[in-house]
Amino acid sequence: MPFQLPKLSYPYNALEPHIDAKTMEIHHTKHHGTYTDNLNKLLDEGKLTDKYKADGNDASAILMNIESIPESIRTGIRNHGGGFMNHNLFWEIMGPKAGGEATGELADEIKKTFGSFSDFKEKFSDAAAKRFGSGWAWLSLKGGKLMLHSTANQDSPLMEGAIPILGLDVWEHAYYLLYQNKRAEYIKNWWNVINWPAVLERYKKAMKTKMK
Ligand code: MN
Repeated sequence: MPFQLPKLSYPYNALEPHIDAKTMEIHHTKHHGTYTDNLNKLLDEGKLTDKYKADGNDASAILMNIESIPESIRTGIRNHGGGFMNHNLFWEIMGPKAGGEATGELADEIKKTFGSFSDFKEKFSDAAAKRFGSGWAWLSLKGGKLMLHSTANQDSPLMEGAIPILGLDVWEHAYYLLYQNKRAEYIKNWWNVINWPAVLERYKKAMKTKMK
């Protein structure tokens, strides 16, 4: 199978009290696990397993070229391939001993684009709150510029020609056990678990990719 469910670099209870251990465990093993299994099954069904086997657990190429996937499996790949990659990012950009603000060149670029870190935080939170139903809020890089946006379901920014830097899962499965219907509270607390050094690394990598 070309893609594997990645291990987390921290225990399930590491993000408490902001995100509880039970939610983390179900989210990782069941939800992300299912996206991973189904992506592999669909690739097998479409005889595409060999084509993507060497991509090192990175399904970016599939998502960037989603229109080239055979129609019979395209919607499935969109949902499960998107879910696989979105969650890979989500675990990576969170962690214990986190919070605070963006650093380095990402901090400069956020200030240049959005005015200040607090303006950025407010606009990002707003995008996350207003995403109707299930989806994600994103800070992405497109054409070398930062952009704020949201996507429905498990759609990835990669499907829109953007490289995701930071993402927030606002599906109910991400917060319902601890927050029930209070999505705004989940969004507010999530800022305490962002691993900004990891986000900076993603930004630097995205800038390099863009320059290729
Ligand atoms: Mn999720």
